[in-house]
Amino acid sequence: MPESSELRKVLVVDDDRAMQLMLQRWVERAGYEVRVASDGYEAQAKVREDCPQLILTDWEMPGLDGVEFCKWLRKQDLPHYVYTILLTARSQSSDIVSGLQAGADDFLNKPVNKVELIARLKSGERVLALEDRLTLLAKTDSLTGLVTQRTIFERLDAEFERSERHHFPISCVMIDLDFFKQINDTHGHPAGDEVLRTVAGVLNSYTRSGDIIGRYGGEEFCAILSGADECQAVEWAERIRKKLAQTVIKVSGNTLHVSASFGAAQRLEDISTPDQLVDLADQALLIAKRAGRDRVIGFQSMSNALAMNSTGSLHGELLDDLTAADVMTTIVAGVQQGDTVEHVVDYFLRLRIGSAPVVDDEGYLVGVMSDKEIMTVLLRREWWKHKVADVMKENVVRFQESTPALTIYEFLCRTAISSVVIVQDDRPTGVISRGSLMRCFSNALVAALGRNNSESRSESLQTNDVRPQVLAVAEALQRNSAVLYEQLQASRREMAPSIVGGASRIQELVNDLLALSRDADVSVQPTAAPNDNLAIGAQAALRLAFGQPDANHAAAPNDA
Ligand code: GH3
Ligand code: MG
Ligand code: MG
Ligand code: MG
Repeated sequence: MPESSELRKVLVVDDDRAMQLMLQRWVERAGYEVRVASDGYEAQAKVREDCPQLILTDWEMPGLDGVEFCKWLRKQDLPHYVYTILLTARSQSSDIVSGLQAGADDFLNKPVNKVELIARLKSGERVLALEDRLTLLAKTDSLTGLVTQRTIFERLDAEFERSERHHFPISCVMIDLDFFKQINDTHGHPAGDEVLRTVAGVLNSYTRSGDIIGRYGGEEFCAILSGADECQAVEWAERIRKKLAQTVIKVSGNTLHVSASFGAAQRLEDISTPDQLVDLADQALLIAKRAGRDRVIGFQSMSNALAMNSTGSLHGELLDDLTAADVMTTIVAGVQQGDTVEHVVDYFLRLRIGSAPVVDDEGYLVGVMSDKEIMTVLLRREWWKHKVADVMKENVVRFQESTPALTIYEFLCRTAISSVVIVQDDRPTGVISRGSLMRCFSNALVAALGRNNSESRSESLQTNDVRPQVLAVAEALQRNSAVLYEQLQASRREMAPSIVGGASRIQELVNDLLALSRDADVSVQPTAAPNDNLAIGAQAALRLAFGQPDANHAAAPNDA
């Protein structure tokens, strides 16, 4: 839409050359920029070339007439609304109705009166001005003045394509305020609004004119940086993170501080849509949150860290002091060798597991039952009546609880077996699968990333004592576990909803603890060398994540 200082563009369409010239002169003198066309087809071409704000079109024309042209116009996806006035000698109301139905906004009778023509154009301009305001409202967030998510994506689409065509980098940074809900809860919603406005102002002042900064929703913002690779995007975000950390927000006598987490990603070879780019930045943001907030994480550096870890060198260090008992998933229910296959199928389906250790009447490990064994009997007659003992696999790889975790890790790396059973006095107590080791390493990575980034934390937050927070979360974890246990004990039939609900909540709390573990360690181990800190933090994370019975998983050798 034109700025108010810009001329509105009018397209005059008439097959009568003299009429065309006269209209052009009148309209130009009234202060509009005018282009002309001699029939509907030529008018179509002019609209495609440079879309006018207003169109003045004759009805009767050879080729495509005014009404058909109006119909075409309304089907186009144009950058803005086009106000259309139909010129005609017709005055029957049926004609007027068909003109309006075709999409015309107004009529002007021939012979044309100059004063009336200009008055009708002005009235059209008022409609357009209203349109402009509505568009602005839809495109701009009223609280912060930044563009809305819709606009971010519209502009990202165009910028993304340009960056592909001209081979320049483009990056996306997702920004989410930390613990923002607490600000609302403690100081009220208006204070929260003021914080959002202030943050938007800071973001805006750090954004160049060719870049895009918008409010993605709630307390989330999104930046699109044209020409910036991930490294530059991370630097940009880091500058803002520091600036925010120093920003003092005064709201009704209170002094507020706010921090934000950032995820950055650049367009990579295998990213083909803008959505995918935003998604990568979002993944990095998630890790920034999990790693302790108030930090910037780049997607590529994150995946490089993962790649480095999978070589095992860092893991070797991490697993040094851990035993099987530290990393196993505890078994809370098992399969008896006397059970029927029907019972096991039902059990596997309900718990969504693929296998389980089998015990005899005294609880000693005698085999393992997996979906593979079940498949072999499903075609037999009365398969549901078969006994587990007749179907199970008897050779089970077992390790003592005291076995170093590293030994089991190496075993699972070398062999095709995907899980092992952990025993204590020959009774199964847990399971370690490739899946559970993966989960364990992923949590350790989060803690390690958090530690690596610790120097980027602002001073004020570094001196924070996180002990009360850690204890509060640990206490909540205890409470939630107890509630879940009670619910499960009380429930006679459908347990899945309680399990899913309760376990998800517990999982969140565990994530919170992992996030806090870095700071917790700083105060506990003030003299440890940075590299020790890394290992200690990750080990603490491992213990936190796996040191207690895992209600979410009735352990099974194949559970992932
Ligand atoms: P995290 O660090 O995990 O991001 O925690 P958080 O508290 O920032 O995240 P959460 O998603 O739990 O809370 C976001 C809050 O933002 C909840 C919602 O009430 C608040 N919020 C969203 N939009 C607005 C708004 O326009 N004004 C105000 N005052 N608050 C808003
Ligand atoms: Mg004509
Ligand atoms: Mg959020
Ligand atoms: Mg938030």
